[in-house]
Amino acid sequence: MNKAILNNLLEKKVELQRRVDAIEADFKKGRSPDFSEQTTENENNEVLNEIHHEAKLELSLVKQAITRFENDEYGICCQCTEAINPERLKVLPYIDTCINCAK
Ligand SMILES: [Zn+2]
Repeated sequence: MNKAILNNLLEKKVELQRRVDAIEADFKKGRSPDFSEQTTENENNEVLNEIHHEAKLELSLVKQAITRFENDEYGICCQCTEAINPERLKVLPYIDTCINCAK
């Protein structure tokens, strides 16, 4: 197994965790006095919520990929157990299905 891929995943995990933590810290701060208008703040929270949701989702995918790596299952399709195309893994390093099963 390629160690560079694992290092990439670990780096990605740290980066995402940092992002999630930063957003959660922002949430805790609550209402910012910088936002005088309620609408602006609501819109801002919506965007923040979305980023938070996506970062958490990605983080869980990365964690799963690391687990698969540790179990020597990385790069193997979870549905048909065929090897996933390396080009596909390059683009989507935490994907767990081959192109045929993802359809
Ligand atoms: Zn498959």
